[in-house]
Amino acid sequence: MNIDGDQVTDIVLTHADPDHVGGLADFPNANVHIAVEELHALESGAIRYCPTQFEHEPKFVVHSGRGESWQGHPARSIEVCNGLRLYLIELFGHTLGHCGVIIERHDATTIFHVGDAYYLRGELDDPHHPVTELAEARAENNDQRLASLDVIRDIRSKLGDQITMTGYHDLSEFEALAMR
Ligand SMILES: [Zn+2]
Repeated sequence: MNIDGDQVTDIVLTHADPDHVGGLADFPNANVHIAVEELHALESGAIRYCPTQFEHEPKFVVHSGRGESWQGHPARSIEVCNGLRLYLIELFGHTLGHCGVIIERHDATTIFHVGDAYYLRGELDDPHHPVTELAEARAENNDQRLASLDVIRDIRSKLGDQITMTGYHDLSEFEALAMR
C-alpha cells in the first residue's frame, strides 16, 4: 500500500492466531489493540498461538468490557489518533477473546470486520455449511461461536446495506472489496 511502517500508529487484532499476526513485527511502533481475554489466552501458552510472532514485544493496548455496547451488543470503544471511531465487538468462541472490529469512517460508512467468527459468509444462512466442521474443530468454545454468529446475523438484519461486512477467509468478500 506504499505506507511507511512507521506511519502505522494503531493495529486492531480480532485475535492472535498465527495467520492474523504474522506481520506485526513489521510495525514495532504501532499500538496493538487486543481484548483482555485474548491477551490472557495468548499468555496462557495455548498451543494454537505462536510465541515467536510476539518476541518483538508489541505495544499492546488492552481492552476490557466496561458495559459499552454497539447496536445492542457488548463492545469496547477504541481511541485512535485520527479521530476514527473503532470498536471491538465481542464475538467470542473461535478463540476465547475473539472480537470483531467496527470501523465508523469519516464518510459515515461502517466496516464490520468479523475476523474468523465465520470462515465463509455462507455459514450465516446454512447451519450445515461444509466449512462448519472445521469451524467447530477450531473453536475454543463452540456455544460461544454459535452465539457470535447470531450477533452477526442481528447486525446484518439491522443495518443491511449500510454496513460493509467482511471476514478474513472468504475470498469472495475480499474480491468484492478489492473491486472498489
Ligand atoms: Zn483464527
